[in-house]
Amino acid sequence: KVVTRFAPSPTGYLHIGGARTALFNWLYARANGGTYLLRIEDTDRARSTDAAIDAIFDGLRWLGLDGDEAATFQFERSPRHAEVANKLLEAGHAYRCYLTQAELTAMREAAQAEKRPFRIQSPWRDATPDQFPTDLPYVIRIKAPTSGETVIDDLVQGSITVQNTELDDFIILRSDGTPTYMLAVVVDDHDMGVTHVIRGDDHINNAFRQLVIIRAMNAIEGGWPDPAYGHIPLIHGADGAKLSKRHGALGVDAYRDEMGLLPEAVLNYLMRLGWGHGDEEIISIAQAIEWFDVKDVNKGASRFDFAKLSNLNGHYIRESDDARLAALVAPRITDLNVDSDLLTRAMPFLKVRAKDLNELAAGARFLFVQRPLVLEEKAAALLSDEARELLYRVCETLSKETDWTSEALEATLKSMAGELGLGLGKLAQPLRAALTGQTTSPGIFDVLVLLGREESLARISAQAK
Ligand code: GLU
Repeated sequence: KVVTRFAPSPTGYLHIGGARTALFNWLYARANGGTYLLRIEDTDRARSTDAAIDAIFDGLRWLGLDGDEAATFQFERSPRHAEVANKLLEAGHAYRCYLTQAELTAMREAAQAEKRPFRIQSPWRDATPDQFPTDLPYVIRIKAPTSGETVIDDLVQGSITVQNTELDDFIILRSDGTPTYMLAVVVDDHDMGVTHVIRGDDHINNAFRQLVIIRAMNAIEGGWPDPAYGHIPLIHGADGAKLSKRHGALGVDAYRDEMGLLPEAVLNYLMRLGWGHGDEEIISIAQAIEWFDVKDVNKGASRFDFAKLSNLNGHYIRESDDARLAALVAPRITDLNVDSDLLTRAMPFLKVRAKDLNELAAGARFLFVQRPLVLEEKAAALLSDEARELLYRVCETLSKETDWTSEALEATLKSMAGELGLGLGKLAQPLRAALTGQTTSPGIFDVLVLLGREESLARISAQAK
């Protein structure tokens, strides 16, 4: 059975690259009837914060990517990590190393002087217990293989080979008894039953080191198979450079709160970053579950494209339920009294032209502003004396209208324009300015219906002469 995991370090917000890693793990588990787990890698006590943990949970929940079971917190499991380190030690796959900082520095400098790469060669690797100093601090180092090669058949990157001479005896337990990241990841993945490790390709080098621990444990007690690895390429900015804030390397909360995007649009966009199915741009989660395989993720870095994300969001806004949109938009209009029924009724007319919730909110404001309206400059410019006289006649005509529906209002205003020998636009433009204070809005007859008879006539007469 497939078990995947997303293992963020809570040292900052959940950024967009992390969200994509979570999504690929989630999709792979769903596509294979497996389980998707969450692990908070909070072993860096100085840099891990509760605020970051909250932000990660919050962002994942918004995207629907919270784990299938309660999250594992890595720091709590330190005793278990130490237990594995000691097993490795007892079985001779790891050793106590008493090298001091000064000795390590001297070794590093000697390597530099001779222009050869520095690799730890600890004299303690083959020491016998009787040689151990009794009261000096020591670290536990893994015994890395010194010959041969290690091959990873990466699901995304293909086959990667490393010469074992390149692997050094890295530390698994520090002198204060705390585990290193390398050890903690391996022990947690094993204990959580993780079968597929899908993560950023900046972790490829770690995979070879982690395999040293995994294979040693498997030799000792069995039941520690190599996991399958899928190292996915990083996301780059539109210009090909490493993703920065300017490119969209923001917290997921910024996509929701500041940019006003819908989670389904962000998910659709993220899955298309490095993966696809033919030319399909719009892929629902259900479709993705059917189609997704981590083997089909591109090897090359993908580029982040705001315009594409924005277009996708426009699509999902048009598809979205009106009451839901109204509930998302209302909190974005904080300075006006929002009538949520009216907002819901207006949504079909607003959503055809909006790409995000901010645009929807901006487009909806005219419904709730108080008289006298403050007109946008362009709208005010439309209200010449002539236009105001026209509005006076419109007001007269509309006050006699008995059927306040978009069809009837359209017929009335069209015939009025005909009688005056004017195009409908000549009437509609000042009318829109008077009704909304803007030069763009939903269709003028829909605006009249949404505002209702009383409010519409009051707004028109306020500008009429
Ligand atoms: N905690 C690591 C990170 O945030 C991920 C470790 C892993 O996926 O193995 O980069």
